[in-house]
Amino acid sequence: MLASSPAIDWDAYLAEAIDILSRYIRVDTSNPPGRERLACDFLGEILAAEGIPFETYDPGQDRLSLRAILPGNGAARPFMLLNHTDVVPVQREFWEDEPFAGHIKDGEIWGRGALDMKGLGVAQLMTFLTVKRLGIPLKRDLVFFAMADEEAGSEWGIRWLERNHPDTLDAEFVINEGGGGTTELFGVERPVYNVAVAEKGPLWLRLVAEGRPGHGSVPHEDNALDRLVRAMYRVQEWQRPLSVSPVLTEYFSRLSRAGIYKGEATVEGLTAAAAGDPRIRALLSNTISATTATSGIKHNVIPARAEATLDCRLLPGVRPDDFQAELEAVIDDPKVRIERVHAGWSEVNPFDTELFRTIESVIHDHMEEAVVVPGVTVGFTDSSVLRNRGTISYGFSGGLNNPELGKGVHGHNERVPVESFRLNCQMVFEVTRRMCEA
Ligand SMILES: [Zn+2]
Repeated sequence: MLASSPAIDWDAYLAEAIDILSRYIRVDTSNPPGRERLACDFLGEILAAEGIPFETYDPGQDRLSLRAILPGNGAARPFMLLNHTDVVPVQREFWEDEPFAGHIKDGEIWGRGALDMKGLGVAQLMTFLTVKRLGIPLKRDLVFFAMADEEAGSEWGIRWLERNHPDTLDAEFVINEGGGGTTELFGVERPVYNVAVAEKGPLWLRLVAEGRPGHGSVPHEDNALDRLVRAMYRVQEWQRPLSVSPVLTEYFSRLSRAGIYKGEATVEGLTAAAAGDPRIRALLSNTISATTATSGIKHNVIPARAEATLDCRLLPGVRPDDFQAELEAVIDDPKVRIERVHAGWSEVNPFDTELFRTIESVIHDHMEEAVVVPGVTVGFTDSSVLRNRGTISYGFSGGLNNPELGKGVHGHNERVPVESFRLNCQMVFEVTRRMCEA
């Protein structure tokens, strides 16, 4: 039987966490260029002051990642707190406050990274420091991993580590970004916590149509732009079936029982719902967004080349090769070449696990009325690499935010309410303690 939660002065804990987060936001790790070395210096100094050793991993160009371990007794495999240290760039003119000042005003901590994901990173760091300070005996190694380059494809971060130091990624369970609480979903006000057990895979494609140039006054059949437009039209008209995976059946069933999702959690019910709601459609189907198109040099010249980019997001379990072959058949034009720019793919984690149950009980201990659901992240995270290694890597944050605040992620005026950050700190600590205490 686990000991009950140690006595912690949560006000002092939160004050320290806020101070660290505010200073961490000032470390500008906008990616590109990233310069995550600065984040490693910042975190390393805090760890060193507590007498916690750490390692950094250097792929060059100041793109360092940092890893620290509190050793356990080896009774179970490691538990990893994973966070990325880079942030997406800002458009300063759209912000109401300095994005890299870490100001605290009106009960909110402002700045790039407050939500994605320096806030969760600091909640994880505070957990790590507190386990050390309290001398909590561990049945497994507790790993703190601050990762570079998540926001620009992870090639200098987890993908580089996987190629060069795969042993550093060993863990049974990981907590990472991708999940969290929302105060409102589908128009119903009630806390819902999404624990992400899978994510959609990006498939970024470029369509290149080639034809014969000519004078605009004499149209012919081999106009590259016409060809591209025909291809794009076929892509738009392509009807792709919905797919309701076991995770999403569980997701919608739980929401339906809670009265949050009003329809039937069946393929028929969800088909109707998806027709009217792009969020539901994105969860249940492979999506395609046309994102750029370029062609032509002059008003009266038929172009010899036309290009467009597609941002496709594939359901967990759908292989990029298979989808691309289908797309090629839909376009059905050998003079439209499909070039692959980027592809990701990952396994689905089970949700019938010790970690899922622990997260669920911790959330309910803090908030009886909360609904906890296993979910699919529509964006991608470093968890894809870990899931493909057989690791349980959940997107989990204890933060509870309204949907309006979510717009700050990769958007303007990113900020986190102090109350949400408090919950995040408390829940991340408690989940970690219950999973790791000997
Ligand atoms: Zn992120």
